[in-house]
Amino acid sequence: MYYFAPGVSYAISTPEKVCLPRYLDLKNKMPSRLRHITDYLIIYVLKPKALFVIVLTLNVLLPLLAIAESPHQKNEKGTVVPILIYHEILSGHHGNEYKRPGETIISLKKFSQQMTYLYQQGYTTLNIEELVNFMKGKRVIPPKSVVITFDDGWKSQMLALPILRQYHFKASFWLFPGSGIQDPYGDYLSWREVRKIANVPGFEIGAHSMTHPDDPRSNLVTWVDGKTKGRSALNAEYEIRQSKKVLETKLHRSIKYFAWPHGWYNNKLLQMAKAAHYEAVLTASDGANRQGDDVFHSKRIFVDGACSLEDFKETLHSYKYRICQTHEPPTLGHLPYASKQGSLPKH
Ligand SMILES: [Zn+2]
Repeated sequence: MYYFAPGVSYAISTPEKVCLPRYLDLKNKMPSRLRHITDYLIIYVLKPKALFVIVLTLNVLLPLLAIAESPHQKNEKGTVVPILIYHEILSGHHGNEYKRPGETIISLKKFSQQMTYLYQQGYTTLNIEELVNFMKGKRVIPPKSVVITFDDGWKSQMLALPILRQYHFKASFWLFPGSGIQDPYGDYLSWREVRKIANVPGFEIGAHSMTHPDDPRSNLVTWVDGKTKGRSALNAEYEIRQSKKVLETKLHRSIKYFAWPHGWYNNKLLQMAKAAHYEAVLTASDGANRQGDDVFHSKRIFVDGACSLEDFKETLHSYKYRICQTHEPPTLGHLPYASKQGSLPKH
């Protein structure tokens, strides 16, 4: 280590945000065994010092070993990417009797177990851009890849950050700025917290409408179809466009992706999202994403917080939402026009 002393002293003063994005990028190009070793060194042994030295070494080593991505490389046949949906996270201290683990609530302990499992199994987390490029056939990804999403901007999602950072996992946060980010003392993230998340390397922010209309009789679908008195397609269009605009203005970055509130949409809404210049849209339909799939119908899977780790493993392989909550019925099928669109869970 003495030999690396100048590099190490620089590493100590170098912000993590300089080295970490490069490391996350390089990680996607490494064989899983090497990835495990470098992760282990960074997380448990040398921490920031190792991060700097490893990034330097990999920059030289990967091209020499011809492991780096090349135009001739192809995705392994059958590579599919599940996108996991999380909402609220309960810690032992913050939980209350009205909030039980289920469809949209998971305990911190269980979330942590799931992340540890993904890490131990050698999963690579992708951001949405990497997913989109994979689906378009423009990017080679490791066969075991997964995307982690957090919906609705719950304040409790802050509890997930240390765990995600421990494993250098990427994640995206889907916000509705019209009513979600209002009260810094309430259930939702404040702008200050959103900025903090947005500035972490590997984390990204996506739009999730302005006000998250999710009443079966009054939502984006019923508005655009003219089925809700006092609401029209213009209101739906505003939700789609304005959420992008507000997040871009507040966070000083381009917001390129949208997730349907409650997973509810139709073709008219989809055309609006495309016209608003979103580059991909996430649904709440079960399934995983393959090369060649439509990025405007990206599939996602709910992670029910009442499920066991075994159920979670099954979800990862079956790409299906497993319902485990028993304290109330799941919201499957609570859809306007359910017969046309199929059953989607609450989102
Ligand atoms: Zn939502």
